[in-house]
Amino acid sequence: YDKEYNCCRIVLLGIPGVGKTALTVRFMTRRFIGEYCPTLETIHRCQCHVDNEDTRTEILDTAGQMCADGGWVWKDYYAFWGDCYLFIYSINDRQSFEQIMNFKRHVENIRQAPVFGLLVGNKADLLHDRQVPEVEGIELADEIGCRFYEISAADWTQVDKIVDLFHDAVREYRRSRGMR
Ligand code: GDP
Repeated sequence: YDKEYNCCRIVLLGIPGVGKTALTVRFMTRRFIGEYCPTLETIHRCQCHVDNEDTRTEILDTAGQMCADGGWVWKDYYAFWGDCYLFIYSINDRQSFEQIMNFKRHVENIRQAPVFGLLVGNKADLLHDRQVPEVEGIELADEIGCRFYEISAADWTQVDKIVDLFHDAVREYRRSRGMR
């Protein structure tokens, strides 16, 4: 369907299990449920009040699947749909981190235009199981030109940080509009 004027579209990308749904549900409901349906691709709609301005926002929680060969089933429209991309990995899963560059390139190759996004290392509560040092996240964010967040959808004390993350996505959208 057609995109409304002044509607911010946020797309969450990352391999299965990194917490895309958990982060979305945390933002939309402030709750953490624990188990989420893995196969449903969902669009959530809300109004975001950011910096004294309301912006209609649509959040696409993607549901991709890994193939047997380790490749990725990708829907091209993801690359057109979004105004801001949340590239999400899990700090306790190095493979999820290593896929981030592929996601970013994929969006760029299809769009043939600059991509606005944020890099998110989720599951920051699982420090004992960490496979990706924070500094590597910072370096990758620098390389791909994104702001960086380490965050935990599971940690209720970080709800405000998750709200800030999504609000920063709205700010990126406004920045992208200013450049068009
Ligand atoms: P998705 O496939 O990327 O949408 O991932 P889900 O949101 O379905 O989360 C996958 C699993 O990771 C679920 O069992 C969640 O409860 C768990 N999970 C998500 N975020 C966190 C987090 O920040 N910390 C911890 N410990 N578990 C998380």
